[in-house]
Amino acid sequence: MTSFLARPQPLENVPAELDPLFRREAQRARQIFVNRNLRMDKIDLVGFDMDYTLAVYHKRRSEELAYQMTLARLVTEAGYPEDIGSIGYDPDFVIRGLVIDKEHGNIIKADRHNYVGRGYHGRRRLSYEERKRFYQHEKVRLGAPRYAWIDTLFALPEACLYAYIVDLLETTGRQVDYRKLYDDIRATIDGVHRDGTLKAELKKDLGRYLVKDQELGPTLHKLRSAGKKLFLATNSFWDYTDTVMTFLLDGVLPEYPRWEKYFDYLVVGTQKPVFFSDSRPFVEVGPAGELLGETRTIERGRRYQGGNLTDFEKSVGIGGDQVLYVGDHIYGDILRSRKDSLWRTCMIVEELEDEIAHSERFGPQIRRMHELEFEREALDDELNHQKLVVSAAEKRLERATNGDRAELQERFDSEKARLDKLRRTSRQAQAEIDRLEDEVESSYNPYWGLVFKEGQESSRFGEQVEDYACIYTSRVSNFLAYSPMQYFRSPREIMPHERT
Ligand code: IMP
Ligand code: MG
Repeated sequence: MTSFLARPQPLENVPAELDPLFRREAQRARQIFVNRNLRMDKIDLVGFDMDYTLAVYHKRRSEELAYQMTLARLVTEAGYPEDIGSIGYDPDFVIRGLVIDKEHGNIIKADRHNYVGRGYHGRRRLSYEERKRFYQHEKVRLGAPRYAWIDTLFALPEACLYAYIVDLLETTGRQVDYRKLYDDIRATIDGVHRDGTLKAELKKDLGRYLVKDQELGPTLHKLRSAGKKLFLATNSFWDYTDTVMTFLLDGVLPEYPRWEKYFDYLVVGTQKPVFFSDSRPFVEVGPAGELLGETRTIERGRRYQGGNLTDFEKSVGIGGDQVLYVGDHIYGDILRSRKDSLWRTCMIVEELEDEIAHSERFGPQIRRMHELEFEREALDDELNHQKLVVSAAEKRLERATNGDRAELQERFDSEKARLDKLRRTSRQAQAEIDRLEDEVESSYNPYWGLVFKEGQESSRFGEQVEDYACIYTSRVSNFLAYSPMQYFRSPREIMPHERT
């Protein structure tokens, strides 16, 4: 990846320990990374997704809740055997960017070339031979219907359910229809989201399920103070949006007693990605959350549901690349908006904080790995040369006459010994690289390694973040450390032949 971090500018006349910029300097994990140049002074309108963007969930607790609800329904409503009800959630078993292979009942992780670097069938790791059999005989098209992407944090529970149910049913001798199992899990978790069961439970104890970021209000305020208009565009509906946003923002700053004051435009139930491509009307939402009439134009200070990109831009009078949209869903928020509009995008990837902290902790191992790769490359060159030397010595030996045989044999033996030694050293270097790679990856996640990496390559997910998000960062409040006029600059793209 060639993304580059934008360094915040230090503030003048502010004691270092109070300066958020100073804190960011110390915390690389909270910086904003740049894939494509973005000049914030050209951005007049900043939009935010809510769930997992403005509203950060306590992942393990909320995932476990969705997991347990779905599991219970699979037994009571979808006819799955009761013993699956006792399978516990394992948050480590699933990360963003995995792909479910509905044909073979596997979960896989691919690198940016769609090479499947690891995978599981149930809870059993696929061997190299199995991966080769399933994923190397034909071109892997991860966009095909056979595959289901785990591309939002909301989808993590369903991946865990899939693997663990396959595991339980097969280890107890039962047949599994892999496609049906996926469809059943998808339909069930979808129901849990849609019919309000999950949200009702979340609302009972928001403090347990949401992380309240004290810097969120000041961040939005800073953007507004610089003259930018803000909007909210969430797939959640009014009732839930209001409850969550009230919890997160009401009363945080005296200027904003109600959260709605931070935003010029409010749209809920947007049905992203459809919002970007369709032309559904807006429906105004009344003071008590009731739906009023349909409309094609929206006004500041009112609330709407549904809608579409074209009417939105027309009503607001700002559009195209003057808009920055901040979201967490690579498909619904980032990829679709990029394909269907000119909006600039910022992706929130909360995993960045852990992943960067981890890489810093394992800095010595990662540096050693790079050194060894460099050494191995030199060794391989030497080895290839030595192969030629040995082959020439062998040919001379074959043509030897009795007079020079002893000398040529000795020469051949010595060159061959040198070749063997180089081979051993290269193998040792590779083994040490593999060991270090395994140490770095498995100490992050024993099943899947790093979210942004697969082996020595970017993961498919990492590649998508690079391809589709103009900038990316771990949370919205990271903007607080930057000027609202910041020029987020990306580095010049460096091709392999330009690297020294
Ligand atoms: P946003 O991220 O603010 O656009 O909101 C995402 C909304 O989608 C939340 O209300 C989630 O509960 C909801 N959601 C997430 N996964 C599913 C699903 O599988 N089916 C239906 N709704 C979902
Ligand atoms: Mg979201």
